[in-house]
Amino acid sequence: MNDCIFCKIIDGTIPSIKVYEDEHVYAFMDITPLAKGHTLLIPKQHVKDLFDMPSELAGHLYSVAPSIANAIKTAFNPKGLNTLNNNGAAAYQSVFHYHLHFIPRYEEDGLTLVWEPIKPEMAEVQQAATAIADALNA
Ligand code: 5GP
Ligand code: ZN
Repeated sequence: MNDCIFCKIIDGTIPSIKVYEDEHVYAFMDITPLAKGHTLLIPKQHVKDLFDMPSELAGHLYSVAPSIANAIKTAFNPKGLNTLNNNGAAAYQSVFHYHLHFIPRYEEDGLTLVWEPIKPEMAEVQQAATAIADALNA
């Protein structure tokens, strides 16, 4: 995918500040960080989003995630850390090469999540669970 900026970061066409790489994944600093230490972890293979991610690759990528989180913790001693993965423009994905954000959280950092729960009836939750389980079993 030659118009993908993250593929270009992996092949070195676009510079990046690397923190980790192995055969399958690459971690680097976000260019517009939301907090000190904001890091992105991506597969080297062009995978658009979580929907397209092979399980084995997801397994490897997530096996690296605790090391990245703990390195950020050691480096900056944040109060907490959000991992975030946006899939699809409707979910605020802006780069269509899968990436997992590591966003360290600090006292009074001003970052907010303003999502409102939808407060469904329990029957709707049960129907939703059935639909998902059916899809998993299909
Ligand atoms: P998304 O909104 O798709 O979840 O997040 C994309 C992230 O990629 C953003 O946080 C943005 O700052 C970061 N980003 C976009 N272009 C570049 C780039 O060229 N270099 C780096 N290091 N990060 C980038
Ligand atoms: Zn790509």
